[in-house]
Amino acid sequence: MRKAVLVACLLVAACSSANDDQPDGGAIASDEAPFLPPVGEATSATASANASVADALPLDAPSDMEDATRGLLAQIEADSIIASDGTVVWDIAGMSFLEGESPDTVNPSLWRQSKMTAQHGLYEIADGLYQVRGYDLSVMSVIRGETGWIIVDPLLSSETAAASLQLVNDTLGERPVTGVLYTHSHADHFGGVRGVIDEADAEAREVPIIAPEGFSEAAVTENLLAGAHMSRRATLMFGRHLPLGETGHVGSGLGPATAGGTVGLILPTEEVGTETRVIDGVTFEFVNANGTEAPAEFMFYLPEFRALCTAEVATATFHNALTLRGAKARDTLRWSEVIDEVLVKYGDKSDLVFASHHWPTWGAENVERFLRSQRDIYRYAHDQTLRRANGGATIVEAAEALVEPDLGEDVFDTRGYYGTLNHNAKAIYQFYFGWWDGVPANYHTLPPVERASRMVEAVGGAEEAINKGRAAFAEGDYRWAAELFNAVVFDDPDNRDGRQWLASTYEQLGFQAESGAWRSYYLTGAKELRDGIPEGAGANLGNEDFLKAVPTEALFNALAVRYLPEEMEREPYTLNFRFTDTEEDIMVDVGKATAFPRYGARSDDAAATFETTRESFNDLILGKTGAARLALSGRLKVTGDRGAASAFFDALEQPATDFNVVTP
Ligand SMILES: [Zn+2]
Repeated sequence: MRKAVLVACLLVAACSSANDDQPDGGAIASDEAPFLPPVGEATSATASANASVADALPLDAPSDMEDATRGLLAQIEADSIIASDGTVVWDIAGMSFLEGESPDTVNPSLWRQSKMTAQHGLYEIADGLYQVRGYDLSVMSVIRGETGWIIVDPLLSSETAAASLQLVNDTLGERPVTGVLYTHSHADHFGGVRGVIDEADAEAREVPIIAPEGFSEAAVTENLLAGAHMSRRATLMFGRHLPLGETGHVGSGLGPATAGGTVGLILPTEEVGTETRVIDGVTFEFVNANGTEAPAEFMFYLPEFRALCTAEVATATFHNALTLRGAKARDTLRWSEVIDEVLVKYGDKSDLVFASHHWPTWGAENVERFLRSQRDIYRYAHDQTLRRANGGATIVEAAEALVEPDLGEDVFDTRGYYGTLNHNAKAIYQFYFGWWDGVPANYHTLPPVERASRMVEAVGGAEEAINKGRAAFAEGDYRWAAELFNAVVFDDPDNRDGRQWLASTYEQLGFQAESGAWRSYYLTGAKELRDGIPEGAGANLGNEDFLKAVPTEALFNALAVRYLPEEMEREPYTLNFRFTDTEEDIMVDVGKATAFPRYGARSDDAAATFETTRESFNDLILGKTGAARLALSGRLKVTGDRGAASAFFDALEQPATDFNVVTP
C-alpha cells in the first residue's frame, strides 16, 4: 500500500513570499481580471465567501470541542512519530498551526472541525474505556478486559499503532493485548495491527482477532481490481503531497491526515454477524452493518459500559456515498436503516456513543440526537435525490438542488466534511440510474481532449478562452473559470498561462471547500499543474500481508485486468496452474480478448502447466524472486510449451500508477 510522509509546512512561507509582487486578491477591482494568477492567497471573492460561512453558522458552539478534549489523560510528547528507518510517519507539531483563527484561505467550518480532529492524546471516555486519537486518520479504542487490553481498530500504520499502545501502557500500566477487533474492512482500521500484536504471540496465546462476516475477502478484494487507479486518486483526496498549513492540508474531514509507515494485515481468527460474544470478560453485542460504509462492517454495544460503538457507520461527518478516490456507490438507504436499528435497540441504553473516527458523544439525550440526525442525513440525501430524479431532475440538477437540511441548531456532525451533499446526491443517482443523465447529447459525447479542443475553438481560440476565464475568475465565478481553463489545458497541456490560471482557480475552489477531501483534491490538483506529478504519487502495489490473504481466484481476476490482448500474437491457448500447498487448480484461457481464469478447473490439452506453491507464486508477483530462480531451486515446474507460458506473463501490463489527472 501507499507510503506517504507528512511534510512539515516548509514550503508555504516560501510560496507566499515569492509572490509578494502578485496583485493582492483584495486589491483587484471586481470588474477587472488580475494580470497574473494569484498563488497561495485568497481572493476577495474567496475571503467573502468564507466570511459568509462564518456568519451563517454558530461556529462558536462549544459542545464539539468539549467532547473532543474531554477525558484527556496523556499525550505523545515528541514532535513526531518516526519509523525505524528515520522517516516521519506522523507530524504532531505540524498540526499546531490550527490553534489560530480561521484564515481567509480555509473554509471556517472545515477549520473548526480540523481544530478538533487535530486534538491528540489518550482519552478516558468511560471507566475502563479509552481512545487514542489524533495520531492517524482513524481512532484506536481500547477496552480494559479482565486480564488485558482489547484493541478496537489498530489504525492504518503499525508505527502509529505501536506509539498509541505505548502511550496506553505508559499511562495506564502495562497489560497484554487480549483481543483485537477490526470494525470493518478498510485499511485504516486494521493496517497497523502488527504494531499492537505479534502474529506468533497472538497464535501462541490464542488472542481472538474478531472481524465482521466477509471481512477477509473484502479487506483484500475491495480495492484489488481497481486499486491502481484508486491509489492515484487517493493521493489527491487525502492531500498526501500537500504541506500542512493554512494554504495546504488542514484536515481530511474524517481525521487529521493519513499516516505514513507500514501497512499490514493479520487475518481474523473469527468473523461474526449479529451476535453476542464475551472477549476477555467483556460482553460485546455485535450488529452487522455490511454493505453500508464498507462491504464488511459491524457496530457493537457494550452493556457493562452502557456504550455503543458505531464504527464508521455514524461519525462526526456526513460520510461518502461515493468516495473521491472511486469505489462502488454505497447503499444510503441501507445505511440509514442500520443506524435506525441501533437507535431502536440501544438508543435509550447508551450513556455514550463512540466511533472509529472523531470524538464520542455523551449523555442519553445527545446520543439519541446524534443517532437520529446521522440516520436522517443519509436518508434525506437518498429520499430527496430520488424525489427530484422522479420529478425529472438530471444527476447534476438533483445534486444542485439539495440544500443543508435543518437537523437542529449547533449540529455539525451531519455536515459534509468528508462526503458532501453534492457528490453524495450524484452517487445516489448513480446507484439507481448509472452515470447517464438521460439527455441524448450526453450519451455519446466526444472524448475529453477532442471536446476541449472544439470548445476552445468555439470561443475563439486559447487566448480568448483564457480571457473569458480570467473575467470569470475576477468575478469569483470559479466553477465556470475552471471549465474554461480546463478546456485550454486539455487542448494544450503545454499552455503555461492556461495551467497557471487553472491552478489558481482550483486553489480558490479548495480554499472555499468545506469538505477536507474536496479541499485536498483541488489543492493537489493546483500543485500538480504548477510543479508536475510528485514522486511517489502512484501506488505501491506490493504488500506481502495483503497478497497472502488474496484468494487465488481473485488474484487471477486481478492479473486478467492487466492483460494486453493486442500484444498476444499466438492463437488462443490454455494454461494450467497447480498450487501444491493450497491444493488449488486454476486454468486460464489465453485468448484474443481476455485471459479468462476458470477456478478449480484443469485442461487436458493445456499448452503448458505451472506447478508451484501459492507462496512462491506470491514471491514471483512481488518481484522477490524470478521464474528462473524458482525453477532452478525446484520450487517451480513448468511442463509443456515454455514459450506459451512466458507469452502470457509478457502480455501482462504493469499499471502506470502515476498517471495524469489534471492534464490529459
Ligand atoms: Zn476509516
